[in-house]
Amino acid sequence: MDSEILKKYYQAGSSIKSLSINFKLSVDSVKQAVFDEKYNCRKTLRNAVKRGLVVKESCKICGELKTEAHHNDYSKPLDVIWLCRRHHHLIHRGGKNRFNRDGLVDPGQDRLF
Ligand SMILES: [Zn+2]
Ligand SMILES: [Zn+2]
Repeated sequence: MDSEILKKYYQAGSSIKSLSINFKLSVDSVKQAVFDEKYNCRKTLRNAVKRGLVVKESCKICGELKTEAHHNDYSKPLDVIWLCRRHHHLIHRGGKNRFNRDGLVDPGQDRLF
């Protein structure tokens, strides 16, 4: 199945469920086609954490224990930075203010870590 076709249908308003029925595909494979890299990336990471291949860490910036995984590159699902919700949001809000390794705002740096 050409995932571009599924994506077009999805963007035009078809639901995942109706696509899976119409194209005789599993819900999972429709999701994979529609959400592609980002979705697969999260799924791969989730499995890796479950299997103990990746260990969840505390926030790289403030040390908060409840964290989310941040990807710099969705083609590398296991290459993540662990951040608390607050810092994860701040990073996605972007702008020129980024945090450096010590948790300081570092306007000169374009990429994190
Ligand atoms: Zn934090
Ligand atoms: Zn992120």
